[in-house]
Amino acid sequence: MIRSVVIVGGGTAGWMSATYLKAAFGESVDVTLVESAQVSRIGVGEATFSTVRHFFDYLGLAENEWLPKCAGSYKLGIRFENWRKPGEHFYHPFERLRGADGFSLAEWWLALGDRSQPFDRSCFITAALCEAKRSPRMLDGSLFVSSLDGSLGKSTLDEQRAQFPYAYHFDADAVARYLAEYGIERGVRHVVDNVTEVGQDSRGWISEVRTENHGVLTGDLYIDCTGFRGMLINKTLGVRFQSFEDVLPNNRAVALRVPRADATDMDPYTTATAMSAGWAWTIPLFRRNGNGYVYADQFITPERAERELRAKVAPDRDDLEANHIRMRIGRNENSWVHNCVAIGLSSAFVEPLESTGIFFIQHAVEQLVKHFPDQGFDQRMTAAYNRRINHAVDGVKEFLILHYRSADREDTAYWKDTKTRPLPDGVKAKLDLAESHLLDEETIYPHYHGFESYSWNTMNLGLGRIPLTARPALRHLDPTNALAEFAKLKAEAAEMVAALPSCYEYLASIND
Ligand code: FAD
Repeated sequence: MIRSVVIVGGGTAGWMSATYLKAAFGESVDVTLVESAQVSRIGVGEATFSTVRHFFDYLGLAENEWLPKCAGSYKLGIRFENWRKPGEHFYHPFERLRGADGFSLAEWWLALGDRSQPFDRSCFITAALCEAKRSPRMLDGSLFVSSLDGSLGKSTLDEQRAQFPYAYHFDADAVARYLAEYGIERGVRHVVDNVTEVGQDSRGWISEVRTENHGVLTGDLYIDCTGFRGMLINKTLGVRFQSFEDVLPNNRAVALRVPRADATDMDPYTTATAMSAGWAWTIPLFRRNGNGYVYADQFITPERAERELRAKVAPDRDDLEANHIRMRIGRNENSWVHNCVAIGLSSAFVEPLESTGIFFIQHAVEQLVKHFPDQGFDQRMTAAYNRRINHAVDGVKEFLILHYRSADREDTAYWKDTKTRPLPDGVKAKLDLAESHLLDEETIYPHYHGFESYSWNTMNLGLGRIPLTARPALRHLDPTNALAEFAKLKAEAAEMVAALPSCYEYLASIND
């Protein structure tokens, strides 16, 4: 049996891994986490996926307990601004499409031809809640979709049957600190020190990590959470990192933490605004915004990117310090090799356009628990883990490529390049299909990667890749039920907007 795990790195990945292993295995596995006081965490990673609720529920943490301690807020989806043309926006919500007579409302929206009504506002309730800046919870704490309220207990992404309507924004450092406290209380041994060397045995497996002041740390299994450095997986074991920069060229970011002029004016969504050489995020936390500009340094220098970002989000705040980050975009050939598993930025990263970094960590720790080895390290188990991790990353990679290729925008060298860059075959086929009809679960990326067909179609329709005609079948059908469903959705949205408090109002009530 594996009795001891050593985790190197105390960022979001390190602490999510440590706490999840403790919640899963309790005292039967000793967990040691070593993190450097000198090497800082990446300091970004503040918008999540709705699936993250499984993680917090698994740990037994109640939202109204942890959220206020992490400057947390709600995220009903992502608002994409200026991706089609300046001044336009649409939402990619956490909401599945409803249907009528066997066809989704998106298909009906194409067929009924009222394109004066934006697709997202016709087909999703969430768009209205975002526009009205509503909280997904009533002041008494109940969720607007009452059937999804309550803890899931120890469930995992495999049991994600319903689409939960929201995710969170939170302060990345505060979450790491909060999880550290949780982990240490439950027996995680916390060592603050620099790992200076990683030892290997005669087979090349990791045998120990050496620290500056705490001697040698040993375990049966090692988890590399050292961020983009990949100290164990790449530097020691020499695992090859496959770059995605040929198809996803954004390789740098500059981030700013900006106090909101009006703290009470709070959007319940992440905004992704198209910029001259990339896009900018706005992540509203309870009292400040996280802002950043993700760009390709082929097209803009870091200095110009910082100027463009400051002009957009903090024109009078030269005092705010910018955090310039070089991003390693791609994934390891395999993230589990011998007795070492890389989780977090040391494993894989695609740019944060769909907030998938923390989702990848959650997916990885869940899969690690499911594929947890014994001393024999059955290679079939390791291979099965690697297949799943690689599929998830490759699916998101394809989905993100589609964002750039489908966006109408073509007004700068950067945006022109997004239309001419070579496409992987898988994406080419999907884009071709999407010109004819909407995609389904068979025609999107076929393995689990966190996104369903509604997301792929929402992005295509929002960005401007709209099939010229609706499915011919719909011409043979009576549209009465579909029209009734559109009307019902509109009425429900108006009811919700009237009943729910603003996002700030609700969060203020749990922050008191
Ligand atoms: P890090 O935070 O870099 O932590 C590395 C740890 O390793 C640190 O504790 C450090 O001290 C330790 N360490 C390194 N070397 C040593 C050593 N020699 N000895 C001891 N300790 C060592 N994800 C999302 O889900 N949503 C987002 O909105 C999002 N936005 C992002 C924006 C940008 C620009 C980037 C780059 C990433 C973003 N991510 C996002 C990804 C997210 O930030 C990461 O997935 C997450 O923070 C995990 O980081 P990490 O723990 O792997 O690495």
